[in-house]
Amino acid sequence: MNGEHKITSGHRGRAALVYLRQSTLVQVREHTESTMRQYALADVAVRLGWAPGDVEVIDRDLGLSGTSAAHRAGFRELMSRVCLGEVGAVLGLEVSRLARSNADLARLAEMARLTGTLLIDSDGVYDLSDFNDWLVLGLKSTMSQAELHIMAGRLQAAKLAAAERGDLRAPLPVGLVYDDEGEVAVDPDAEVQAAVADVFACFAAAGSAYGVVAAFAGRKFPQRAYGGAWAGQLRWGPLTHHRVLQVLKNPAYAGAYVHGRHVTRKRVDADGNVRTSTAEVPRAEWKVLIKDHHPGYVTWEEYLAVEARLQANWTASGARTVREGSALCQGIIYCGSCGGPMVANYQGGDRANYECHSRRDGKKAPGCRGIATAALDDAVARVLLDALTPEQVALALAAADQVAGQHQRASRAAELAVERARYDADRAERAFSQVEPENRLVARTLEARWEARLATLAEAEQALESAAAALPPLPDRDTIARAATDLPALWHAPTTTARDRKRLLRTLIADVTLMPEPDRAKARIGIRWHAGTAGQLIIDRPGPSGIPAATPSPAADLVRRLGPATGNDDLVAILNQRGYLTGAGRPFDVKAVQWVRRVYGVPVPSPVAAGEVSVKDAAAMLGCSAGVVYYWIEAGQLEARRHGNRLCIPWTQDVEAACRDRIAASGHLNPEARRTRPRKTPRCPAEEPQMSAAPGSI
Ligand SMILES: [Zn+2]
Repeated sequence: MNGEHKITSGHRGRAALVYLRQSTLVQVREHTESTMRQYALADVAVRLGWAPGDVEVIDRDLGLSGTSAAHRAGFRELMSRVCLGEVGAVLGLEVSRLARSNADLARLAEMARLTGTLLIDSDGVYDLSDFNDWLVLGLKSTMSQAELHIMAGRLQAAKLAAAERGDLRAPLPVGLVYDDEGEVAVDPDAEVQAAVADVFACFAAAGSAYGVVAAFAGRKFPQRAYGGAWAGQLRWGPLTHHRVLQVLKNPAYAGAYVHGRHVTRKRVDADGNVRTSTAEVPRAEWKVLIKDHHPGYVTWEEYLAVEARLQANWTASGARTVREGSALCQGIIYCGSCGGPMVANYQGGDRANYECHSRRDGKKAPGCRGIATAALDDAVARVLLDALTPEQVALALAAADQVAGQHQRASRAAELAVERARYDADRAERAFSQVEPENRLVARTLEARWEARLATLAEAEQALESAAAALPPLPDRDTIARAATDLPALWHAPTTTARDRKRLLRTLIADVTLMPEPDRAKARIGIRWHAGTAGQLIIDRPGPSGIPAATPSPAADLVRRLGPATGNDDLVAILNQRGYLTGAGRPFDVKAVQWVRRVYGVPVPSPVAAGEVSVKDAAAMLGCSAGVVYYWIEAGQLEARRHGNRLCIPWTQDVEAACRDRIAASGHLNPEARRTRPRKTPRCPAEEPQMSAAPGSI
């Protein structure tokens, strides 16, 4: 071998490492010749004078790509042992390829030079402290890198050229297949076709990927298996959210040929290892996009619409989707003063306000104001219904057709499933009838299979029946056409959900802005339509819902005068008897009276009658806590009358004396009594108020 004289006894006294590497498992499996040659290097080392016990083979990197050392434990081990100076020589089939990256090899060469380690390949022995050897190795390494680059470049260029023609074959998503001529075609299997088409139809109806998942509940979706035992076969499984997104986002279904939708990116993690991940490329940066390349399930325009819809649903990116609440403009209303979004703040019942979000964040501008949702929604809905008039019939009819289509699809899928099951059962029957009766083992298996297929068929038929039964009858087209002419009635109908109204609103209106308005009694509303136009309207702000200062003064005076001694019910009767009305022009009720009391600070008359005391008063007189008194009442030891949510205790000298006796006898309430009582005396639970009375009563 070239340069054998460079090997000294010093080198032979240390270990000889044989480093084995094949980039991929395919190489490992198919290029056995190379692997065999690599293992044969161990014999070379022995021939060069190393003791067989000192020759070690490092083959942990078989099947790992060499472009970086990050994941190659074998190469790292090699490096560390060279650094420690334990190694006399490193043997490889071609030393310049020990590492595919120049940086890795340069590091190894530098370490080998410092520790006096030889590098040996089929061309000869390199002593890195010799300038000539060092130069030759460096040149070889550079050339190997260049070779790799040119090779990869040629391959990639050829691939891209094929892709630009739309000829580069890639695995097709389920529902599309390559036909006999190698052209992309819609899968001839009607059941698969229906399933894929239904995903798009359900998305159009439900408006969200989760809506599609819900519509497919109990129904299976096909998936083409790539590689593995099921390669090329169709597997039916549940439709997951992830799958729905995959289908909706795949441009192949829109008949487009795309190359470069994904890119692999490298990054260095915290440990310094290089990690590779796959990322989606924005549509504008796709390398190849050929529209109308093959027949698809949707048009390109529909594909773009789906994409926009998904984007609008993506709350993580700041989208505000339609929610359940009654506030119509939720998600599309903005504050005209600070520009921030406004949120619907529900205050129980139907009452809600749109409030500027900046208020919560403490970034409120002086002009930021809220408004009652009802006032703003009514105005916006009126504008919307006015605008809809010319389109209303067409819109409603399209919706009706969509619903009818959905009905048909649901039962169509079940019909196709029955057809498939029947075909399978027929085939199993034929196979069973053709087997020779003497061949019992085979016959038994085939019979069992036939029975299983028959059971599946029965199940599918059952599913078809229930699918047909589950469908509610549809109103006919005329009924819908009639309903559509009266859109306002349809809009306000109780069967129309808040969600439906919001969806309809969003199809036409892009956003609503509450503009700054100096007149505090008015609200200026800006509406921007999807069509590109914008308009403004001014509405009266609703007055406060109660009757604060606006209550006509005779009524308010009366409440103030009689209030402290008269109950609410009596006050309502008196006010209505005199014909007084609230500020809003309505007759008085208990709520209105309560409001006046709150505004003018009129106290509620005390329910405690003569000869009675309140719990608070009783506790004060006895010098105990109110909790103790409540406990006595609860335990039945003290009489009390309930008035509303207050308790009135008939108070006599006897009652007071009984209470004081109880306190004196209680060890808990009276520490002196506890000290004189023998320890063993069983305690009466009734005298332990701390159990259920307010804690810390004394
Ligand atoms: Zn604001």
